Amino acid sequence: MEFIDLKAQYERLGPDIHAGIDRVLRQGRYILGPEVEQLEDELRQYVGSAFCASCANGTDALQLALMAWGIGPGDAVFVPAFTFMSTAEVVSLAGATPVFADIDPDTFNLDPESLRRAVEEVERKGRLSPKAVVPVDLFGQPADYGAIGAVARRHGLHVLEDGAQGFGGAAAGRRACSFGDISITSFFPAKPLGCYGDGGAVFTDCEKWHDLIVSARSHGKGKEKYDHVRIGVNSRLDTLQAAILLVKLRAFTESELAARQRWAGLYTALLQDHVKTPVVRDGFSSSFAQYTLMLNNRDERDALKAHLKRKGIPSMVYYPKPLHRQEAYLSLGYEEGSLPNAERAAECVLSLPMHPYLTEDTVGMVAASVLEFLK
Ligand SMILES: *Cc1c(COP(=O)(O)O)cnc(C)c1O
Repeated sequence: MEFIDLKAQYERLGPDIHAGIDRVLRQGRYILGPEVEQLEDELRQYVGSAFCASCANGTDALQLALMAWGIGPGDAVFVPAFTFMSTAEVVSLAGATPVFADIDPDTFNLDPESLRRAVEEVERKGRLSPKAVVPVDLFGQPADYGAIGAVARRHGLHVLEDGAQGFGGAAAGRRACSFGDISITSFFPAKPLGCYGDGGAVFTDCEKWHDLIVSARSHGKGKEKYDHVRIGVNSRLDTLQAAILLVKLRAFTESELAARQRWAGLYTALLQDHVKTPVVRDGFSSSFAQYTLMLNNRDERDALKAHLKRKGIPSMVYYPKPLHRQEAYLSLGYEEGSLPNAERAAECVLSLPMHPYLTEDTVGMVAASVLEFLK
């Protein structure tokens, strides 16, 4: 059994993907070919944002957003402590300081109250200047942008939506990757919409920021070729990956997203009376980048993981260590116990196999094995 079965998807979409790849190889425009612009246009329309710029990966997408805002030394950027390293790493790369906030224990997303306290503490200390917050749509459910936006507006913060896992999710009738002042996603193969390599995209309604990002992703280019008006990076989406994503985006919107939600619903129906299953808030929907259980403690979690492994069922811990306790960030001085919900999640979470090409039998078998362990 696969944790994410990309081979099953390839079997379904293979002929169309090969046709797209052949077209790119024959036409020979490997960098910023017509498929890139077509994909950006389709992504933008799906998400519901005015502009989309594709780039080389989700981490670069976050970095390009911070570059567009000119974030640098002396700036504080607020980040949830329970997420993938990229969310904070780009802040440090920009020369700014990540300030960690705790998560909501039910959704695993940034807790607006903890964010408010973190911002007020930075303001009180007066050493850093609060500039932005990076809420993460963890495991596919959008963060609470209503409450986070209220804190951000009160304190003059830009909101950068890390929708690397969020693509396909929705809240209040809007799609993920449209909630930030700038929003990003990732096309890493294991994400809800993945390519066959690395890829990412940046979304915004602001033309000025979009233009800065398009310039920054190509060495800070100006209007003429070899005219460089700012320092940038080399971060483009390959035409080949765009051609692959055009096929995969169609499958995602036509059937894969619904299938993910169906399998998640079935897992929940089978398991919810026995273990803490994912909480999707009223008015929200998740793309179920991950289907994540919350056990009672680390020992129970690790024992369930071992039990599933003996049955031939893969499971994953996303993430075993919160960012504020990573060695790379020890110098920031966060004590154990300082962000308790993030620390507890790292001890208790376990993600089950989740992808659109599961079957009723497979979901039933995984759930039965979880129940067998719990009894
Ligand atoms: C995967 C991921 C990223 C980074 O995306 P890449 O394309 O791998 O660079 C950023 N944030 C979160 C929350 C992620 O899950």
